[in-house]
Amino acid sequence: MLISVTLQKKQTMSKPSILIIYTGGTIGMIADPESGVLKPFKFSQISQEVPALKKFDYDLSAHAFDPPIDSSNMSPEIWIQLASLIRDNYDRYDGFVVLHGTDTMSFTASALSFLLENLTKPVIFTGSQLPINTLRTDGKENLITAVEIAAARRNGEPTVPEVCIYFESRLYRANRTTKHHSEHFDAFRSHNFPPLAEAGIHIHYNHGAINHPMVDLPLIVHDKLCKDVAILKLFPGISSNLVEAIFNTKDLKGVVMETFGSGNATTEKWFLDQLVRATRRGIVIVNITQCRSGSVDMGRYETSYDMASTQVVSGYDLTTEAAVTKLMFLLAQKRSYNELLKKMRYPIAGEMTLPDRYVVM
Ligand code: ASP
Repeated sequence: MLISVTLQKKQTMSKPSILIIYTGGTIGMIADPESGVLKPFKFSQISQEVPALKKFDYDLSAHAFDPPIDSSNMSPEIWIQLASLIRDNYDRYDGFVVLHGTDTMSFTASALSFLLENLTKPVIFTGSQLPINTLRTDGKENLITAVEIAAARRNGEPTVPEVCIYFESRLYRANRTTKHHSEHFDAFRSHNFPPLAEAGIHIHYNHGAINHPMVDLPLIVHDKLCKDVAILKLFPGISSNLVEAIFNTKDLKGVVMETFGSGNATTEKWFLDQLVRATRRGIVIVNITQCRSGSVDMGRYETSYDMASTQVVSGYDLTTEAAVTKLMFLLAQKRSYNELLKKMRYPIAGEMTLPDRYVVM
């Protein structure tokens, strides 16, 4: 079911109103005094930990998930809940800050970029590597700057009307990100797209890279995702049994296949046969690269030439997170196989870069 909310443009220059949504994650965790294990604590304690928030001349409100969720326990159902929460509050707030565990933040934020169609307000995800009540926490700066970005306006309009991740001085388009470090404060990267802003003494926005809706359309909040997807990561020596087992998974509808270099895979016949059989059964296979940067270019080498003549779709420079969530999003819509392939090949929320020679069909 699609639910629409009419966009109400605020013409007045009133105080920005921001809704902070706390889903869980390290930013709101505390070490158990006995075991030392990090456990979530109540959101009200977070606001006590960051009294500086009161210095903003903004109307700030908060909503906390109860219980808070470690991001390893996130699920498509909770992504939809989060999108619905934004929908229900869309007309009341100028921007949203989502506090989320870093581990799967790129998945949730990528999913939201697809679920929130025609978004015209900032939805800024952030979190931290150290709990907010620890002395060296990165959480305070991340939270304060994320709030400032969510409230930022340019010519009376939101400066960044996109789903983003702000982390350690950089603002990224969410569906271009990946968590790349488990310990450093600088935990996220966007290998194939430049940051949308850098925060130092001032916040410098990269206006040319920020997506602005061309026309004012009502927000559409999608509320369906298909979980019948798999990730197939190739490695030298991968067995036909393993590949077959994945393609024969009950109810499987889509596979994100992580290939080598510019989209290459073994030329062994059994492999190609399996791809052809799976696509004939209606399984959507998206080819993305295991390399962190760069794009798939099927047909460039002999090792991807035959694949290019199958129904395997190029995911170009999609991250794994964006590929999986885009596939979940598209598969949940009632579309023909060919339509699905076409949609998968084309960016819908700025998530991929098409090669210059790409022709829209
Ligand atoms: N385990 C935590 C989570 O992702 C880690 C973090 O917040 O950084 O929820």
